[in-house]
Amino acid sequence: MKWDAETEILIIGFGGAGAVAAITAHDAGAQVLIVEKMEKGGGTTNISLGGFLSPKERAGAQQYLENLCFRVSRTVDPEMIQIYVEECLKNREWFESRGARTHVYGGAAFSQLPGAESIEKRMVTGKNTVEENSFWTFLRSQVESRKIPVWYSSPAKELLTDPRGVLTGAVIESEGKAKAVKANRAVILTCGGFEYDEWLKANYLKGYPYHSFATPANTGDGVRMAQRVGADLWHMSGVSTPLGFKAPEFEAAFMVRPATHRYIFVDQEGKRFASEFAEIHAYNFIVDYFDPHTLRFPRIPCYMIFDEAARKAGPMGLTAIGYNRGRYDWSKDNGEEIRRGWIIADDTIACLGQKIELDGGILEKTVVQYNQDCQLGQDREFHRPKDKLAPIGEGPYYAMKLWPCLLNTQGGPRRNVKAQVLYPDGRPIPRLYSAGELGSLYGLLYQGSGNLGECLAFGRIAGREAAKESLWG
Ligand SMILES: Cc1cc2nc3c(=O)[nH]c(=O)nc-3n(C[C@H](O)[C@H](O)[C@H](O)COP(=O)(O)OP(=O)(O)OC[C@H]3O[C@@H](n4cnc5c(N)ncnc54)[C@H](O)[C@@H]3O)c2cc1C
Repeated sequence: MKWDAETEILIIGFGGAGAVAAITAHDAGAQVLIVEKMEKGGGTTNISLGGFLSPKERAGAQQYLENLCFRVSRTVDPEMIQIYVEECLKNREWFESRGARTHVYGGAAFSQLPGAESIEKRMVTGKNTVEENSFWTFLRSQVESRKIPVWYSSPAKELLTDPRGVLTGAVIESEGKAKAVKANRAVILTCGGFEYDEWLKANYLKGYPYHSFATPANTGDGVRMAQRVGADLWHMSGVSTPLGFKAPEFEAAFMVRPATHRYIFVDQEGKRFASEFAEIHAYNFIVDYFDPHTLRFPRIPCYMIFDEAARKAGPMGLTAIGYNRGRYDWSKDNGEEIRRGWIIADDTIACLGQKIELDGGILEKTVVQYNQDCQLGQDREFHRPKDKLAPIGEGPYYAMKLWPCLLNTQGGPRRNVKAQVLYPDGRPIPRLYSAGELGSLYGLLYQGSGNLGECLAFGRIAGREAAKESLWG
């Protein structure tokens, strides 16, 4: 094999997991090269909220995460969760010992689970700009200060193995050429999810279409490269999907965050179908409902209905995070979005319903019933929290089409507690590691801040273990 370049550890993808793996491997004395598909690093990490899991104590966090993972599936064993918890317990210290400050901003998503009180979500304290969040600024600067080389605009195309299946490097498309890069110790896959791969989404997720707030660079390349060298896959249907708005002229979806509670979600029949405040990381379970009678997904898309006071209260779209950050400024009074046809307006609920091709009468009845529940102080059907009940008041009235939009896809090559990628029979593929969202340990239920927690936890494990591999070249 003629090699074009050589390193000890080749890291594919420069987001959170890639950065942490690179820092760890470098500090363990290994030579590292990062290759990144885009002209800049950061991936979804840089457009995220930047919250990372930082449990308060071990036993409760283990109990909580076991409950979360075992409630709907049994694909992760307790040892995996134990290692994850142990590493996440170090997350705060990892930042603070390197000079960052962190602060708490939240806790468990599922407070009904035992151990929930042990879950804490933290952020790196600092400035979030239109270019970077403070989490990514810190990681990027740590990589830069170590002078770890990064090849930008250089997607990995294929993993290379010797005849026994041992990883020897990868083909990287760089400067217009396919370059064979030799990795004398290991390759670490950190190239994110498959939010923008229509085939993988259609094949593994239930409802369709699913849009995304993440970076369009994440097209499941790591899934396919790992498959080609024999990796097992796991958690391919595990996703977190709040509802969001997708405009045809933008690649990514907009997060929706109304400034008031004067809104409801209705399905294609004009009926409410869930609490609008159900845990966002589990909303896919709600909208994925397939009606075996009408033979359609009546909640994809669904609609947000709101009144004039809600329109005036502030922008419906949130552009401080997600891929559209810096790409679009949502107007304060939503006027521009009405002009663009993203928000549909009418003077009466019934006419609004007809405009969006719902039964206006049913929609009217839905609003009347919801308003009665507000007056009663109790959402009799869907248990929307009492303090979130606000009636739909004076018109005009508005509707926005909403779809499930991916914050993450958890699926990818299965890994073990040492971050080694596995064959279907459970043996490690020699010298191949992974970290981050690609092949995350989360199955069907997801704890917010768990992904960045995992970038830190398994980024460190992968970097550490890869640096221990003997040199072969
Ligand atoms: C709006 C939003 C908010 C979120 N907030 C949070 C939060 O607060 N806390 C939390 O835990 N999670 C959050 N998430 C999820 C979290 O951000 C991601 O799961 C996490 O950042 C993934 O990190 P990663 O390093 O695995 O992948 P990424 O950060 O996406 O990095 C992957 C990198 O690989 C590159 N790449 C892709 N293919 C190739 C290839 N073939 N060759 C080379 N490079 C390649 C990509 O360009 C990218 O730079 C959020 C997600 C979104 C969309």
